[in-house]
Amino acid sequence: MSALGKHDYIGYNVEVVDNTTGDILGMIAKDHCATCFADGVQVITGCTFGKGNILKTHKGKWAVTLIDKKSGKGIRVTPEAEAMLANKQTPFFRDYREKGLPASVVPAHVVDPLVENVMGAPDEMILSVSEVFAHEHKAPPHSFDGFVCEECGEMVVMQYGRIKGDRKFCIDCAS
Ligand SMILES: [Zn+2]
Repeated sequence: MSALGKHDYIGYNVEVVDNTTGDILGMIAKDHCATCFADGVQVITGCTFGKGNILKTHKGKWAVTLIDKKSGKGIRVTPEAEAMLANKQTPFFRDYREKGLPASVVPAHVVDPLVENVMGAPDEMILSVSEVFAHEHKAPPHSFDGFVCEECGEMVVMQYGRIKGDRKFCIDCAS
């Protein structure tokens, strides 16, 4: 597994995964509230929603499985639950985030100690990284076929098109 090893971590205190070939697929088990977790995974791994090489598995967990599609191997990376529970007891969560305030309004003197703690922590204190395991991935074939919607004039990927009579529409215009 060339681009993906035991020391290629996600999160703050990480080595960046070389995903220039787009062969790494990230599967994120979290899709509720921890949107910043998914952002971090995208930045660090290059697995992005735009390229479609990241998937949400809708299991409500903070975890990512990184898969090297070429070698059929993967690792699972999870933030340590104890570290996450400790974070939830900080003023950042108690006084701001849990009251619905966006992270952008939390003052630096509240945020900075948290960032410094994470950046200074040994990897094993904040992340659990599995051994490499076999993980076959069958990706659907890429399609570059498209057409222009006859109503709105926007480009549409072929398999998302809708046919009415002898005319082709996008989903928006067909409904
Ligand atoms: Zn349309």
